[in-house]
Amino acid sequence: MASISLRAVEKTYGRGAGANKVIHGVNAEITDGEFIVIVGPSGCGKSTLLRMVAGLEEITGGEIAIGPRVVNTLEPAERDIAMVFQNYALYPHMSVYDNMAYGLKIAGKPKAEIEQRVQKAAKILELGALLDRKPRQLSGGQRQRVAMGRAIVRQPQVFLFDEPLSNLDAKLRAQTRLEIQKLHAELGVTSLFVTHDQVEAMTLAQRMIVMNGGRMEQIGTPEEVYARP
Ligand code: ADP
Ligand code: ADP
Repeated sequence: MASISLRAVEKTYGRGAGANKVIHGVNAEITDGEFIVIVGPSGCGKSTLLRMVAGLEEITGGEIAIGPRVVNTLEPAERDIAMVFQNYALYPHMSVYDNMAYGLKIAGKPKAEIEQRVQKAAKILELGALLDRKPRQLSGGQRQRVAMGRAIVRQPQVFLFDEPLSNLDAKLRAQTRLEIQKLHAELGVTSLFVTHDQVEAMTLAQRMIVMNGGRMEQIGTPEEVYARP
C-alpha cells in the first residue's frame, strides 16, 4: 500500500500553437489504503489524470508521488501499480490459471511464488474451481474476475481502475461493483477509480475527486460533496 500525492499536476497535449491544456493544477493527498473515485463528465480529464499516475501519459507540470517516490520520470513497470481496464482481454488459448500467472512468468518469478500468488487471488475472487477452464468456458462476470486476478497477482501498491464497469449490463455491473468492494476490504490496497457515473461514484468512494473542465472542483466524502450547495 502507498499514499499518492498529486502536486500542482498539469497536462498539456501538443505543443506551440496546437497546445491544449486539459489538466489545471490538481492537488490531492490520498492516504494509504484509501478508495478514491475520480468522477466528472466526459472529457473533463479523469482518464488523463489516471494515465499520468500509471505512467501511460507524460506529466507536463507539477509532480506525482507514489509513497515517498516522485514517479514523473519512471516507466509504468517501475511504479508498483496495476491497472484494470474497461476492455479486459484474456488470452483465449490459456487456462484461467495461466492467464493470471503469465505476467509473473514473464517477470521471472519462481514457480512456487507464482502458484502461491495465483491461488491467493483465486481464493479472493472465488475462481478456485475454474482454474483449468479456458476463457470461452466462463461467464462474463467470471472473465471480469480473471482480469482482476491478473492485477491482484502483481501485488501492487496501487490499483488503478479506468471505468471497468461501463461496458457491463446492469446486473453484472452491480455484481462486479461488489467484487471490487470486497477486494478493497480484503487487501486494503490504495485505489483510484475513474467513472462518469455519479451513483457508482457514491457507492464505491471513501472520498471522491470531482473534476470539471480539467480542474478539481471538490474532494471529500460523498456526504461532504453532496451536502454542498
Ligand atoms: P475523461 O476521461 O474525463 O473523459 P480525458 O482525460 O479522456 O477525459 O480527456 C480530457 C481532454 O483531453 C479532452 O478534451 C480530450 O479531448 C483531450 N485528450 C485526451 N487524450 C488526448 C490525446 N491523446 N491527445 C490530445 N488530446 C487528448
Ligand atoms: P502481459 O501479461 O500483458 O504480457 P506483463 O505482465 O508481461 O504483461 O507486463 C508487461 C509490462 O506491462 C510490465 O512491465 C508491466 O509493468 C506492464 N503491465 C502489465 N499488466 C499491467 C497492469 N495490469 N497494470 C499496469 N501495468 C501492467
